[in-house]
Amino acid sequence: MYVRGVGPRVAELLAARGIQTAEDLLYHLPFRYEDRQNPRSLDELKPGETASVIAEVRGAALLRTRRMPLFEITVGQGRLALKCIWFNATYLNGKFHAGQTVAVYGKVEPSRSSSNLKMIQPQFEILPDSSDDAETRLLEVGRITPVYESLGGSRLASRWQRKVIFHLLEGMRGSVPECLPREMLARLELPGREQALREVHFPAEGTPLEQLQSAATPAHRRLIFEELFFLELGLELKRRRMRKRAGIAFGTSDKVREAVREVLPFHPTAAQKRALGEIVGDMRQPSPMRRLLQGDVGSGKTIVALQAMIVAMENGYQAALMAPTEILATQHYLAARKLLERSSRKPRMVLLTGSLEDDRKRRARGQINRGEAQLVIGTHALIEEKVEFDRLGLVVVDEQHRFGVLQRFRLMKKPNQPEPDVLVMTATPIPRTLALSLYGDLDVSILDELPPGRTPIVTRRVPDERAGEVWDFVRREVEKKRQAYIVYPVIEGTKEDHPELDFSRDDPDAGTGPPVQSGSRRTAKSGTAELFPGSAQEASPGARSGLKSATEMYEKLGAGPLAGLRVALLHGRLDADEKETVMRRFQRGEIDVLVATTVIEVGVDVPNATVMVIGHAERFGLAQLHQLRGRVGRGAARGYCVLMTGERISPQGEERLNAMVRTQDGFELAELDLVQRGPGEFFGTRQAGLPDFRVANLVRDRKLLELAKVEAARFANANGSDADAGREGTDAERARVWARLKEAWQRRYGLVEAG
Ligand code: ADP
Ligand code: MG
Repeated sequence: MYVRGVGPRVAELLAARGIQTAEDLLYHLPFRYEDRQNPRSLDELKPGETASVIAEVRGAALLRTRRMPLFEITVGQGRLALKCIWFNATYLNGKFHAGQTVAVYGKVEPSRSSSNLKMIQPQFEILPDSSDDAETRLLEVGRITPVYESLGGSRLASRWQRKVIFHLLEGMRGSVPECLPREMLARLELPGREQALREVHFPAEGTPLEQLQSAATPAHRRLIFEELFFLELGLELKRRRMRKRAGIAFGTSDKVREAVREVLPFHPTAAQKRALGEIVGDMRQPSPMRRLLQGDVGSGKTIVALQAMIVAMENGYQAALMAPTEILATQHYLAARKLLERSSRKPRMVLLTGSLEDDRKRRARGQINRGEAQLVIGTHALIEEKVEFDRLGLVVVDEQHRFGVLQRFRLMKKPNQPEPDVLVMTATPIPRTLALSLYGDLDVSILDELPPGRTPIVTRRVPDERAGEVWDFVRREVEKKRQAYIVYPVIEGTKEDHPELDFSRDDPDAGTGPPVQSGSRRTAKSGTAELFPGSAQEASPGARSGLKSATEMYEKLGAGPLAGLRVALLHGRLDADEKETVMRRFQRGEIDVLVATTVIEVGVDVPNATVMVIGHAERFGLAQLHQLRGRVGRGAARGYCVLMTGERISPQGEERLNAMVRTQDGFELAELDLVQRGPGEFFGTRQAGLPDFRVANLVRDRKLLELAKVEAARFANANGSDADAGREGTDAERARVWARLKEAWQRRYGLVEAG
């Protein structure tokens, strides 16, 4: 489709931003609005608030200070004035002149030099004057004006988008296809698609600004609902389709029950019993199980999974467990072997990881293929090494977000055999509503109770200046025959080693990103970070002093404060053998203190370790901090978590550290994590199969997500092949829903037939 203002060069720029069609452009919604109809007066501004102001330029100057060039303009209304300052903004020189009208948006700050206020690094637009054409004036002034994230420099910023979208909507007047049944919209009191698109870009006079900013107008709600409805409808269909597939109906005779019971070294918690009941309930069904077992660190997922595997083996099938790292696979293997010693059956187990020698691998593959190995534990080598199972009944995947391979399980079975059941385990506490709605194609079991007898972990914040006390404490614990972890964010050198540790980026005083032109704000983050990009130059990675690394601290501590203790180093760059050796020795108590990076984060179980010291704790995300803390307090002795902090801490960092001290509840921490980071980061983006939304925001729009889920189930029910009752809308409308579903899934999620 021809869109005015979009030539080949621009189309290329847009495509790079994921905008391929006119529709994509229409769904690129404003991220805020300015009321240029009733602009704020300067005398009502209060320091601390974030505001948008329209005023006349009085003067502009480029100031060369010792540190960096500053660009400054003064804008005024009558006798009142406001200063606006940008760092390093030589590019602004010549852009402003007295008499222009500008809109500026930013945080209002008191100004030192006078009683006037100032804004630092505000976003700005120079507003049209009488020499501009009528249309520009119509779109830019005297109305509620949409502000967009730029789609490519200043050229494709807000003003360009207003024009193009305006023309697009004009050109499509009366012909934007509806994709939801009219009756449904009426019942939910949501506007039609075209109306919603129009109002979301060009709000009618008098639309409450508050509602617009929080995406709560009926127009916003309609578009968000639409997006979530098609997500949920797709998930609903996947689940229904799975129920029709041929799986294995496992039996649970008394003999099977006895085998499951006899491996238990302790009384299961009520949550473990419930989860196992749900899992076994699925396994008895003739359709394949797809279930997520979610439980905080230490909630006892492993034993539940092992019991499920015993059910499969007792039925004459093989069971496989896949872990994300060799360390964990080995640990699972050793744990399973120990538990199965109590079993009267003694199933044959093999361990298959990538680092095994070739002939051992070959032997393992043969045993698996001939069905001699009943319980197989490994890493993704299980998929990569083209292992074909003789009779695969159940696959347990640990920490699925590191794999994203659900659909590949089919490769593991011989042709013409029924699909195995799949149980995914995750220790990432996912807020309940999100888990239920997002993993809509998985059923969910939750272990929300810790085994009895755990003493809560003592968590303390300690500034680096008091490190000496921390090392003394570590020594005292080691004297009591306990062990300690000391974790740093990087292996050696600067943070470039460790790009996944990107939490420093949300610190306004530590940003290293390029200056942001107009606000780019996709998640629920506060906008402060982008409003102060200029300080980047002061804090380049090399310049930031004193970022401690595991390697450096291993040497320093071993030679100094922890001299005489058995200290070892563990990080991701050691090869698998070395890692394993170190981990084994730590497990056996031959090492007192393990200095490490976050490689130890997931699943490692050493009950004798009682201290977790985390260096530069302000740089870690909540999920990681929580995972790390979960490594201690697993035995009878009290566990301690020490959060050491060095640099200046951002407000968000403060919030994370305080939350860690306040609570040990993984779900509570997950909620905060989700709010801070937004769902994309939270789930590790698309790896987890999490769709990239264009208008919805899973934190903000949870209620609509619930509604969409209910409506999707209702629609699928009423429109299944065997249903006549409860249909809504005409045949043509329903056909459009299905067509749209296919399109949306193919385009947005790319998952149509996967899994
Ligand atoms: P997760 O995998 O959920 O982090 P694990 O399965 O490793 O947790 O269990 C953590 C520890 O708690 C293990 O040492 C395990 O033996 C123990 N454990 C699990 N369930 C129970 C229970 N019901 N009673 C006592 N100890 C338990
Ligand atoms: Mg089954």
